[in-house]
Amino acid sequence: MPPPVFRFAPSPNGYLHLGHAFSALLNADLARESGGGFLLRIEDIDPARCRPEFETAIDEDLAWLGLSWEKPVRRQSEHFAEYRAALEELTALGLVYPSFESRTEVARLIAEREKEAPWPRDPDGAPLYPGSARLLSAEERQRLLKSGAPFALRLDMAAACARVGKLCWTERGEGPAGEAGTITADPAAWGDVIIARKETPTSYHLSVVVDDALQGITEVVRGQDLFWATSVHRLLQELLALPQPTFRHHRLIRDAAGQKLSKSTDATGLRELRARGVTAAEIRRRIGLA
Ligand code: GLU
Repeated sequence: MPPPVFRFAPSPNGYLHLGHAFSALLNADLARESGGGFLLRIEDIDPARCRPEFETAIDEDLAWLGLSWEKPVRRQSEHFAEYRAALEELTALGLVYPSFESRTEVARLIAEREKEAPWPRDPDGAPLYPGSARLLSAEERQRLLKSGAPFALRLDMAAACARVGKLCWTERGEGPAGEAGTITADPAAWGDVIIARKETPTSYHLSVVVDDALQGITEVVRGQDLFWATSVHRLLQELLALPQPTFRHHRLIRDAAGQKLSKSTDATGLRELRARGVTAAEIRRRIGLA
């Protein structure tokens, strides 16, 4: 068996906090214990939120934690052509359609549906796509595309699921409700997910599966908040004939109020803690990885 390959894949849209430290250190520890590789991937497809100074800070903070990783680092913003190729494969399978509703229009449609009954939500709590762009006639679709209107490209979930049948994954960690072992994927719970946009020919879901395959990642180790996103990833892996890694979703580091950390603060930011003289060994102890 070739040695396993692990990755830590932060988005440079803020400073790293204790939750990132836990994920990065856990990946690196598992790689070291198994004689495997440890890669860093910069997930910077969103130019509105990602900034070079945050990427520099990621390098500094991880080095301070005592980590080293293989070079070159893969930066997603440099690989749009690869994501576009994957998108074209899905399009060729007839599984992708453009939707043109604005956020306001989507909200209006949901409010209208909810007058009758609660509208279904995805595993992250966001309402499923309520529109009917999949049913637009070819002429109407062409007309809207030509008009220059913004659009999102969505996966026709029912058709995609019908194509691949039942999907599972091997879970070495556990989900938010303790799920472990062989997990049955439920991509339909996400509805017709967005897999690309007019101005960005990819999405988190699409670039993650393309990169994990291209980088030969065998073990995806990440937070439990992404547990059910794995359903979409397994579906895309199957549709694109990509290898299937095993998954380990780990516990989340929480703040004093029990909330999942979402941004770095004085109490949780790695730079702030470092500036206060906290050592990397103390960080390990604090997050239970000593
Ligand atoms: N870039 C994602 C994040 O920062 C992680 C992606 C992954 O590990 O699959 O939450």
